Amino acid sequence: MYRSDVLSATNVAPGAVVPVTDERGRSFGAALYSSSSQIALRMISTGPVPDFPSLLRERVRNALVYREQLVRDTDAYRIVFSEADFLPGLIVDRYNDILSLQILTQAMDSNPVRDALLAELTQQLKPAAVAERVDAHIRELEQLPPRESGLLLGDKTTTIFTMNGVRFHFDIREGQKTGAFLDQRENYAAAALYAHGEALDVFCYQGAFALHLAKSCPQVTGVDSSRPALEVADKNALLNQREVEWIEANAFDLLKDYSAAGKQYHTIVLDPPAFAKTRKNLETALRGYKELNLRALKMLRPGGILVTCSCSYHVSETEFLEVVTDAARDAHKTLRLLDKRTQAKDHPTLVNVPETSYLKCLICHVSA
Ligand code: SAH
Repeated sequence: MYRSDVLSATNVAPGAVVPVTDERGRSFGAALYSSSSQIALRMISTGPVPDFPSLLRERVRNALVYREQLVRDTDAYRIVFSEADFLPGLIVDRYNDILSLQILTQAMDSNPVRDALLAELTQQLKPAAVAERVDAHIRELEQLPPRESGLLLGDKTTTIFTMNGVRFHFDIREGQKTGAFLDQRENYAAAALYAHGEALDVFCYQGAFALHLAKSCPQVTGVDSSRPALEVADKNALLNQREVEWIEANAFDLLKDYSAAGKQYHTIVLDPPAFAKTRKNLETALRGYKELNLRALKMLRPGGILVTCSCSYHVSETEFLEVVTDAARDAHKTLRLLDKRTQAKDHPTLVNVPETSYLKCLICHVSA
Protein backbone atom coordinates (compact mmCIF):
# COMPACT_ATOMS: atom_id res chain seq x y z
CA MET A 1 0.00 0.00 0.00
CA TYR A 2 1.36 3.35 -1.04
CA ARG A 3 1.99 6.17 1.38
CA SER A 4 -0.67 8.22 -0.41
CA ASP A 5 -3.25 5.54 0.55
CA VAL A 6 -2.43 5.75 4.26
CA LEU A 7 -4.98 7.94 6.06
CA SER A 8 -3.32 7.86 9.45
CA ALA A 9 -0.36 6.17 11.09
CA THR A 10 0.14 7.12 14.70
CA ASN A 11 3.10 6.12 16.84
CA VAL A 12 4.42 3.70 14.26
CA ALA A 13 8.12 2.97 14.51
CA PRO A 14 10.17 2.48 11.33
CA GLY A 15 10.08 -1.20 10.37
CA ALA A 16 7.26 -2.09 12.76
CA VAL A 17 4.73 -4.86 12.18
CA VAL A 18 1.39 -3.06 12.23
CA PRO A 19 -2.30 -3.95 12.09
CA VAL A 20 -3.98 -2.36 9.05
CA THR A 21 -7.63 -1.32 8.94
CA ASP A 22 -9.80 0.61 6.52
CA GLU A 23 -11.47 3.91 7.49
CA ARG A 24 -14.39 2.01 9.05
CA GLY A 25 -12.08 -0.05 11.22
CA ARG A 26 -12.37 -3.31 9.27
CA SER A 27 -9.14 -5.26 9.40
CA PHE A 28 -7.00 -5.99 6.33
CA GLY A 29 -4.45 -7.89 8.40
CA ALA A 30 -0.85 -7.10 9.29
CA ALA A 31 1.85 -5.30 7.34
CA LEU A 32 5.49 -4.31 7.58
CA TYR A 33 5.78 -0.54 7.85
CA SER A 34 8.42 1.66 6.25
CA SER A 35 8.69 5.27 7.39
CA SER A 36 10.49 6.38 4.24
CA SER A 37 9.47 4.25 1.25
CA GLN A 38 6.64 5.23 -1.10
CA ILE A 39 5.45 1.70 -0.37
CA ALA A 40 4.49 2.43 3.23
CA LEU A 41 2.92 -0.94 3.97
CA ARG A 42 3.81 -4.41 2.73
CA MET A 43 1.07 -6.85 3.69
CA ILE A 44 2.29 -10.05 5.32
CA SER A 45 -0.89 -11.64 6.64
CA THR A 46 -4.66 -11.33 6.53
CA GLY A 47 -4.71 -12.02 10.28
CA PRO A 48 -2.80 -10.66 13.27
CA VAL A 49 0.96 -11.32 13.53
CA PRO A 50 1.99 -11.46 17.19
CA ASP A 51 5.50 -12.79 16.51
CA PHE A 52 7.00 -11.81 13.15
CA PRO A 53 10.41 -13.53 13.64
CA SER A 54 8.68 -16.89 14.15
CA LEU A 55 6.37 -16.27 11.16
CA LEU A 56 9.49 -15.51 9.12
CA ARG A 57 11.07 -18.79 10.16
CA GLU A 58 7.94 -20.68 9.12
CA ARG A 59 7.90 -18.91 5.75
CA VAL A 60 11.56 -19.69 5.12
CA ARG A 61 10.78 -23.37 5.78
CA ASN A 62 7.83 -23.21 3.36
CA ALA A 63 10.00 -21.54 0.74
CA LEU A 64 12.49 -24.40 1.05
CA VAL A 65 9.76 -27.04 0.69
CA TYR A 66 8.62 -25.34 -2.54
CA ARG A 67 12.19 -25.41 -3.91
CA GLU A 68 12.66 -29.05 -2.93
CA GLN A 69 9.56 -29.86 -4.94
CA LEU A 70 10.36 -27.80 -8.04
CA VAL A 71 14.05 -27.03 -8.42
CA ARG A 72 16.13 -29.53 -10.42
CA ASP A 73 19.65 -29.86 -11.86
CA THR A 74 21.27 -27.14 -9.79
CA ASP A 75 22.86 -26.32 -6.47
CA ALA A 76 22.30 -22.60 -7.06
CA TYR A 77 18.82 -21.13 -6.81
CA ARG A 78 16.78 -18.48 -5.06
CA ILE A 79 15.49 -19.64 -1.70
CA VAL A 80 13.46 -16.54 -0.81
CA PHE A 81 12.07 -14.15 -3.41
CA SER A 82 10.57 -11.31 -1.42
CA GLU A 83 6.79 -10.87 -2.01
CA ALA A 84 6.59 -14.08 -4.05
CA ASP A 85 7.54 -15.99 -0.87
CA PHE A 86 5.47 -13.74 1.41
CA LEU A 87 8.63 -12.17 2.84
CA PRO A 88 8.65 -8.70 1.25
CA GLY A 89 12.06 -7.03 1.31
CA LEU A 90 14.10 -10.22 1.65
CA ILE A 91 16.13 -12.08 -0.97
CA VAL A 92 18.12 -15.22 -0.18
CA ASP A 93 20.10 -17.02 -2.88
CA ARG A 94 22.00 -20.25 -2.54
CA TYR A 95 25.29 -20.84 -4.34
CA ASN A 96 26.16 -24.40 -3.41
CA ASP A 97 27.37 -24.16 0.22
CA ILE A 98 27.28 -20.34 0.46
CA LEU A 99 24.12 -18.30 0.96
CA SER A 100 23.96 -14.72 -0.26
CA LEU A 101 21.21 -12.46 1.05
CA GLN A 102 19.85 -8.98 0.46
CA ILE A 103 17.84 -6.98 2.95
CA LEU A 104 15.79 -4.28 1.28
CA THR A 105 13.44 -2.81 3.92
CA GLN A 106 13.47 -1.40 7.45
CA ALA A 107 11.44 -4.32 8.83
CA MET A 108 13.81 -6.96 7.48
CA ASP A 109 16.83 -5.05 8.80
CA SER A 110 15.87 -5.31 12.48
CA ASN A 111 18.12 -7.42 14.71
CA PRO A 112 15.46 -9.91 15.86
CA VAL A 113 14.50 -10.52 12.21
CA ARG A 114 18.13 -10.96 11.12
CA ASP A 115 18.76 -13.36 14.03
CA ALA A 116 15.66 -15.44 13.23
CA LEU A 117 16.63 -15.60 9.55
CA LEU A 118 20.18 -16.75 10.24
CA ALA A 119 19.00 -19.29 12.81
CA GLU A 120 16.50 -20.84 10.40
CA LEU A 121 18.87 -20.89 7.42
CA THR A 122 21.60 -22.49 9.52
CA GLN A 123 19.28 -25.08 10.95
CA GLN A 124 17.80 -26.06 7.58
CA LEU A 125 20.81 -25.84 5.28
CA LYS A 126 23.97 -25.87 7.39
CA PRO A 127 25.75 -23.50 4.96
CA ALA A 128 29.53 -23.07 5.06
CA ALA A 129 28.93 -19.31 5.02
CA VAL A 130 26.21 -16.68 4.80
CA ALA A 131 27.07 -13.40 3.08
CA GLU A 132 25.10 -10.18 2.90
CA ARG A 133 25.12 -8.11 -0.30
CA VAL A 134 24.41 -4.48 0.62
CA ASP A 135 22.79 -2.10 -1.84
CA ALA A 136 23.90 1.30 -0.50
CA HIS A 137 21.30 3.17 -2.54
CA ILE A 138 18.43 1.09 -1.14
CA ARG A 139 19.65 1.58 2.43
CA GLU A 140 19.70 5.30 1.80
CA LEU A 141 16.15 5.26 0.42
CA GLU A 142 14.99 3.23 3.44
CA GLN A 143 16.85 5.65 5.75
CA LEU A 144 18.91 2.81 7.19
CA PRO A 145 22.46 3.41 8.46
CA PRO A 146 25.20 2.48 5.97
CA ARG A 147 26.53 -1.07 6.16
CA GLU A 148 29.31 -3.00 4.47
CA SER A 149 28.76 -6.11 2.39
CA GLY A 150 30.40 -9.18 3.89
CA LEU A 151 30.09 -12.41 5.81
CA LEU A 152 27.42 -12.80 8.50
CA LEU A 153 28.38 -16.36 9.29
CA GLY A 154 31.29 -18.70 8.54
CA ASP A 155 34.51 -17.75 6.78
CA LYS A 156 34.23 -19.24 3.31
CA THR A 157 34.09 -16.55 0.61
CA THR A 158 34.36 -18.54 -2.63
CA THR A 159 32.82 -21.71 -3.98
CA ILE A 160 31.89 -23.46 -7.21
CA PHE A 161 28.26 -24.00 -8.12
CA THR A 162 26.67 -26.07 -10.89
CA MET A 163 23.62 -25.33 -13.05
CA ASN A 164 22.48 -27.87 -15.66
CA GLY A 165 25.88 -29.55 -15.44
CA VAL A 166 27.79 -26.31 -16.15
CA ARG A 167 30.14 -25.10 -13.40
CA PHE A 168 30.66 -21.54 -12.20
CA HIS A 169 32.93 -19.69 -9.80
CA PHE A 170 31.24 -17.76 -7.03
CA ASP A 171 32.90 -15.11 -4.88
CA ILE A 172 30.88 -13.16 -2.31
CA ARG A 173 32.88 -10.02 -3.18
CA GLU A 174 32.27 -10.10 -6.92
CA GLY A 175 29.51 -9.52 -9.40
CA GLN A 176 26.10 -7.97 -9.80
CA LYS A 177 22.86 -8.89 -7.99
CA THR A 178 23.74 -11.55 -5.38
CA GLY A 179 26.38 -12.95 -7.75
CA ALA A 180 24.63 -14.52 -10.73
CA PHE A 181 21.42 -14.19 -12.73
CA LEU A 182 19.75 -17.26 -11.31
CA ASP A 183 16.39 -16.26 -12.79
CA GLN A 184 17.70 -17.32 -16.24
CA ARG A 185 18.74 -20.81 -15.13
CA GLU A 186 15.96 -22.74 -16.88
CA ASN A 187 16.31 -20.51 -19.96
CA TYR A 188 20.01 -21.48 -20.29
CA ALA A 189 18.97 -25.11 -20.62
CA ALA A 190 16.16 -24.23 -23.05
CA ALA A 191 18.50 -22.14 -25.22
CA ALA A 192 21.02 -25.00 -25.32
CA LEU A 193 18.33 -27.29 -26.77
CA TYR A 194 18.02 -25.20 -29.93
CA ALA A 195 21.48 -23.60 -30.22
CA HIS A 196 23.76 -24.68 -33.07
CA GLY A 197 26.64 -23.52 -35.23
CA GLU A 198 28.42 -20.25 -34.65
CA ALA A 199 26.92 -18.52 -31.60
CA LEU A 200 27.03 -15.01 -30.14
CA ASP A 201 26.02 -14.28 -26.52
CA VAL A 202 25.39 -10.54 -26.20
CA PHE A 203 25.43 -9.11 -22.64
CA CYS A 204 27.09 -12.32 -21.50
CA TYR A 205 28.13 -11.24 -17.95
CA GLN A 206 30.03 -14.22 -16.46
CA GLY A 207 29.23 -16.38 -19.48
CA ALA A 208 26.25 -18.45 -18.39
CA PHE A 209 24.41 -18.53 -21.74
CA ALA A 210 27.69 -18.80 -23.66
CA LEU A 211 28.85 -21.83 -21.68
CA HIS A 212 25.49 -23.55 -22.10
CA LEU A 213 25.61 -22.85 -25.86
CA ALA A 214 29.13 -24.27 -25.98
CA LYS A 215 27.66 -27.72 -25.27
CA SER A 216 26.30 -27.81 -28.82
CA CYS A 217 28.00 -24.95 -30.68
CA PRO A 218 31.54 -25.36 -32.02
CA GLN A 219 32.20 -21.60 -31.89
CA VAL A 220 30.93 -19.25 -29.20
CA THR A 221 31.62 -15.56 -28.62
CA GLY A 222 30.49 -13.64 -25.53
CA VAL A 223 30.22 -9.84 -25.40
CA ASP A 224 29.93 -7.60 -22.35
CA SER A 225 31.06 -4.11 -21.36
CA SER A 226 32.21 -5.24 -17.91
CA ARG A 227 35.80 -6.39 -17.71
CA PRO A 228 35.44 -7.92 -14.21
CA ALA A 229 32.46 -9.96 -15.47
CA LEU A 230 34.49 -11.20 -18.45
CA GLU A 231 37.40 -12.17 -16.22
CA VAL A 232 35.08 -14.47 -14.28
CA ALA A 233 33.58 -15.69 -17.58
CA ASP A 234 37.07 -16.69 -18.72
CA LYS A 235 37.72 -18.57 -15.47
CA ASN A 236 34.35 -20.30 -15.89
CA ALA A 237 35.26 -21.40 -19.42
CA LEU A 238 38.48 -22.91 -18.10
CA LEU A 239 36.59 -24.67 -15.32
CA ASN A 240 34.36 -26.33 -17.94
CA GLN A 241 37.21 -26.93 -20.40
CA ARG A 242 35.48 -24.86 -23.06
CA GLU A 243 36.96 -22.38 -25.51
CA VAL A 244 34.91 -19.22 -25.74
CA GLU A 245 36.02 -15.89 -27.22
CA TRP A 246 35.21 -13.02 -24.83
CA ILE A 247 34.97 -9.49 -26.17
CA GLU A 248 34.85 -6.38 -24.00
CA ALA A 249 32.67 -3.92 -25.90
CA ASN A 250 29.56 -1.81 -25.91
CA ALA A 251 27.00 -4.22 -27.35
CA PHE A 252 25.23 -1.56 -29.40
CA ASP A 253 28.48 -0.51 -31.12
CA LEU A 254 29.63 -4.07 -31.65
CA LEU A 255 26.33 -5.21 -33.19
CA LYS A 256 26.35 -2.16 -35.45
CA ASP A 257 29.91 -2.84 -36.63
CA TYR A 258 29.40 -6.58 -37.03
CA SER A 259 26.13 -6.29 -38.95
CA ALA A 260 27.65 -3.57 -41.18
CA ALA A 261 30.59 -5.91 -41.84
CA GLY A 262 28.16 -8.67 -42.88
CA LYS A 263 28.96 -11.06 -40.03
CA GLN A 264 26.62 -14.04 -39.79
CA TYR A 265 25.65 -16.36 -36.94
CA HIS A 266 23.50 -19.42 -36.43
CA THR A 267 22.55 -18.56 -32.84
CA ILE A 268 22.34 -15.20 -31.05
CA VAL A 269 21.36 -14.55 -27.43
CA LEU A 270 20.35 -11.04 -26.33
CA ASP A 271 20.06 -10.56 -22.56
CA PRO A 272 20.45 -6.83 -21.88
CA PRO A 273 20.06 -5.14 -18.50
CA ALA A 274 16.62 -3.68 -17.68
CA PHE A 275 16.27 -0.71 -20.04
CA ALA A 276 12.98 0.46 -18.51
CA LYS A 277 13.72 1.08 -14.84
CA THR A 278 10.52 3.13 -14.62
CA ARG A 279 7.37 3.45 -16.72
CA LYS A 280 8.64 6.91 -17.77
CA ASN A 281 11.48 5.64 -19.94
CA LEU A 282 9.40 2.94 -21.60
CA GLU A 283 9.62 4.52 -25.07
CA THR A 284 13.42 4.78 -24.94
CA ALA A 285 13.60 1.22 -23.65
CA LEU A 286 11.45 -0.11 -26.48
CA ARG A 287 13.70 1.68 -29.01
CA GLY A 288 16.73 0.02 -27.38
CA TYR A 289 15.17 -3.46 -27.62
CA LYS A 290 14.13 -2.78 -31.21
CA GLU A 291 17.64 -1.77 -32.25
CA LEU A 292 19.30 -4.79 -30.63
CA ASN A 293 16.83 -7.27 -32.07
CA LEU A 294 16.96 -5.71 -35.53
CA ARG A 295 20.75 -5.90 -35.69
CA ALA A 296 20.80 -9.45 -34.34
CA LEU A 297 18.14 -10.61 -36.81
CA LYS A 298 20.09 -9.16 -39.73
CA MET A 299 23.05 -11.31 -38.74
CA LEU A 300 21.12 -14.56 -38.28
CA ARG A 301 21.37 -17.16 -41.01
CA PRO A 302 18.27 -18.95 -42.32
CA GLY A 303 17.41 -21.68 -39.83
CA GLY A 304 19.08 -19.62 -37.10
CA ILE A 305 17.99 -19.25 -33.50
CA LEU A 306 17.31 -15.98 -31.68
CA VAL A 307 17.07 -16.08 -27.89
CA THR A 308 15.89 -12.64 -26.85
CA CYS A 309 15.22 -11.50 -23.30
CA SER A 310 13.86 -8.54 -21.38
CA CYS A 311 14.02 -8.27 -17.62
CA SER A 312 12.21 -4.90 -17.52
CA TYR A 313 9.10 -5.32 -15.44
CA HIS A 314 7.63 -2.24 -17.17
CA VAL A 315 7.81 -3.86 -20.60
CA SER A 316 4.94 -6.34 -20.87
CA GLU A 317 5.26 -9.62 -22.73
CA THR A 318 2.89 -8.28 -25.40
CA GLU A 319 4.96 -5.10 -25.86
CA PHE A 320 8.16 -7.13 -26.06
CA LEU A 321 6.70 -9.49 -28.66
CA GLU A 322 5.56 -6.46 -30.68
CA VAL A 323 9.07 -5.01 -30.65
CA VAL A 324 10.58 -8.29 -31.81
CA THR A 325 7.88 -8.58 -34.50
CA ASP A 326 8.66 -5.04 -35.71
CA ALA A 327 12.37 -5.82 -35.79
CA ALA A 328 11.71 -8.98 -37.83
CA ARG A 329 9.63 -7.02 -40.33
CA ASP A 330 12.37 -4.41 -40.76
CA ALA A 331 15.01 -7.13 -41.10
CA HIS A 332 12.86 -8.95 -43.73
CA LYS A 333 12.95 -12.14 -41.66
CA THR A 334 10.16 -14.49 -40.61
CA LEU A 335 10.16 -15.65 -37.01
CA ARG A 336 8.57 -18.76 -35.59
CA LEU A 337 8.10 -18.74 -31.85
CA LEU A 338 9.61 -21.96 -30.45
CA ASP A 339 9.28 -21.15 -26.79
CA LYS A 340 7.88 -18.25 -24.75
CA ARG A 341 9.53 -18.35 -21.37
CA THR A 342 9.78 -16.48 -18.11
CA GLN A 343 11.85 -16.54 -14.91
CA ALA A 344 12.87 -19.87 -13.35
CA LYS A 345 10.44 -21.46 -10.89
CA ASP A 346 12.60 -20.54 -7.89
CA HIS A 347 11.62 -16.92 -8.74
CA PRO A 348 7.89 -17.62 -8.42
CA THR A 349 5.17 -15.53 -10.04
CA LEU A 350 2.09 -14.98 -7.92
CA VAL A 351 -0.90 -14.85 -10.24
CA ASN A 352 -2.54 -12.19 -8.08
CA VAL A 353 0.62 -10.04 -7.91
CA PRO A 354 1.60 -9.18 -11.49
CA GLU A 355 4.62 -7.27 -10.16
CA THR A 356 6.25 -10.63 -9.32
CA SER A 357 6.56 -11.44 -13.06
CA TYR A 358 9.25 -9.53 -14.91
CA LEU A 359 11.44 -11.73 -17.11
CA LYS A 360 10.61 -12.49 -20.74
CA CYS A 361 12.65 -14.91 -22.85
CA LEU A 362 11.57 -15.67 -26.42
CA ILE A 363 13.24 -18.41 -28.40
CA CYS A 364 12.61 -17.99 -32.13
CA HIS A 365 13.47 -19.79 -35.33
CA VAL A 366 14.53 -17.41 -38.10
CA SER A 367 13.88 -17.89 -41.79
CA ALA A 368 14.73 -15.55 -44.61
N1 SAH B 1 23.22 -12.97 -19.69
C1 SAH B 1 23.77 -12.77 -18.37
C2 SAH B 1 23.15 -11.60 -17.62
C3 SAH B 1 23.26 -10.28 -18.32
S1 SAH B 1 22.99 -8.93 -17.26
C4 SAH B 1 23.58 -14.03 -17.55
O1 SAH B 1 22.65 -14.80 -17.84
O2 SAH B 1 24.32 -14.25 -16.59
C5 SAH B 1 23.38 -7.61 -18.29
C6 SAH B 1 24.84 -7.47 -18.64
O3 SAH B 1 24.93 -6.41 -19.57
C7 SAH B 1 25.78 -7.09 -17.51
O4 SAH B 1 26.80 -8.05 -17.44
C8 SAH B 1 26.36 -5.73 -17.90
O5 SAH B 1 27.74 -5.64 -17.59
C9 SAH B 1 26.16 -5.74 -19.39
N2 SAH B 1 26.00 -4.45 -20.06
C10 SAH B 1 25.28 -3.37 -19.69
N3 SAH B 1 25.30 -2.43 -20.64
C11 SAH B 1 26.06 -2.92 -21.66
C12 SAH B 1 26.42 -2.44 -22.96
N4 SAH B 1 26.01 -1.25 -23.40
N5 SAH B 1 27.20 -3.22 -23.73
C13 SAH B 1 27.61 -4.44 -23.32
N6 SAH B 1 27.27 -4.95 -22.13
C14 SAH B 1 26.51 -4.20 -21.31
